[in-house]
Amino acid sequence: MLLTISTTHHPARDLGFLLHKNPERVHEMDLSFGRAVMFYPEVSDEQATFALLLDIDSVALVRGRNKDSKGLFDQYVSDRPYAASSFLSVAIAKALRNALGGSSKERQQLADTPIPLKARVLPVPVRGAEDLVARLFEPLGYDVGIEPIALDEKLSYLGEGWDQSPYIALNLTGEVRLSDLLSHLYVLIPVLDKRKHYFVDRAELEKLVAKGESWLGGHPAKELIASRYLRFKKSWAREALLRLAVEDGIEEVSEEAEASLDAASAPEEGSVVAEPPSPPKDAAEEALEEPIRLHDLRLDTVTAKLRDLGVRRVVDLGCGSGKLLKRLMAERQFSEILGVDVSSGSLEVAERRLRIETLPERQKARIKLLQGALTYRDRRIEDYEAAALVEVIEHLEPERLEALERVIFDCAKFETVIITTPNREYNDLFEGMAPGQLRHADHRFEWTRGEFNAWASSVAEKYAYQVQISGIGEEVENFGAPSQMAVFERV
Ligand code: SAH
Repeated sequence: MLLTISTTHHPARDLGFLLHKNPERVHEMDLSFGRAVMFYPEVSDEQATFALLLDIDSVALVRGRNKDSKGLFDQYVSDRPYAASSFLSVAIAKALRNALGGSSKERQQLADTPIPLKARVLPVPVRGAEDLVARLFEPLGYDVGIEPIALDEKLSYLGEGWDQSPYIALNLTGEVRLSDLLSHLYVLIPVLDKRKHYFVDRAELEKLVAKGESWLGGHPAKELIASRYLRFKKSWAREALLRLAVEDGIEEVSEEAEASLDAASAPEEGSVVAEPPSPPKDAAEEALEEPIRLHDLRLDTVTAKLRDLGVRRVVDLGCGSGKLLKRLMAERQFSEILGVDVSSGSLEVAERRLRIETLPERQKARIKLLQGALTYRDRRIEDYEAAALVEVIEHLEPERLEALERVIFDCAKFETVIITTPNREYNDLFEGMAPGQLRHADHRFEWTRGEFNAWASSVAEKYAYQVQISGIGEEVENFGAPSQMAVFERV
């Protein structure tokens, strides 16, 4: 299979800097399923074309069957070496990693600029769904050209329709950043491949969220894309879309979106989905904090605070594996408890931890779990007195915090909101932590006491709350306590 990318941007040979591939040379890269050969069929200041030829080792594919490719079908093996598919995405991610990430050592400004680009991919399997190609690429601003790939005329004895090849050459023309073009191809080529033959695990979900970050949330066919990309695993598709949903500020969970997800998620024959392995997301962090039993202390502190404030109906936002929910269930004062998390894997763990299935009816009626995102207005969370967010805000991109603030303080208007987050100043005291390192790989930031204070005070002022901030864990002079908590009460 072949991908070519051309530009007429002047000087066109700068394409080499964007791709981190010298136009004067042929480049090769070995991949587990074959070989990528990259070269420039034409280079001048007026026009340059880069070509990536993917040579798939079909023998290795068949041999690898027992190991990585469980669930491969024979017919699949037969067109796999030729048709553009997820293998092309892997090749893009491996061989053009910097370009896909949008960085260029020599021409960063150009990498950040939309330039005239033309991509050609072939053969792309469409199996009769040519209109899908336009639905996927046109909303992203491309002129889409489709050339049927004719089959060998010798086959015409097969009668009418013999030339209905399931493959096309796809031409995309647009004024885009190179990294956007590559991420569009990365996600959408596997979406076009109608047969599902490879395992999908949660890593795919993370890839979709990362590569779709800047464009998928606003795409009119986003349900279809997420659902097909994740091989019809609906709860994952929903999770990906929820996580991408804030780009345009607060949106409401719409029934329409749920319905299109339902429609897009009807599983097709041959789809293979791995069970979510989901090790608890917070394991690494807990190992670090374990010697001082910080997480238990944090959860106990929040439970006690909610109890002392006389709260009865409470929602745990970003409930993770359900540790706070478990404590809340143990206290009869809490009559209605709702756990919300964006991760379906965590919710499954929480469901097991709480043994919801086996609870007596009256207990079962006290607790509910819901998949949702905190940056997304959701009326189902709005009818509670109090909300707790234990070690959650630091998992959000800072630019999404404002949406979270509005969802919690403006839309839901809880009487009480309790938020905990690490105190970065204390990190120096943890053993084995490098300077500047955060407690967990998924943390987007960790705040000093001053930073948390400033944020909490400004939120309180903006939405008419009073706030009290305190440390959780033993205070150490100059470093503070390991964790910090803000208790907001509506004025
Ligand atoms: N509160 C739990 C889990 C903390 S880990 C505890 O203290 O044990 C952070 C949790 O926030 C994860 O479960 C993660 O899935 C969830 N999360 C991260 N971003 C989210 C978002 N935008 N919406 C909802 N949940 C989110």
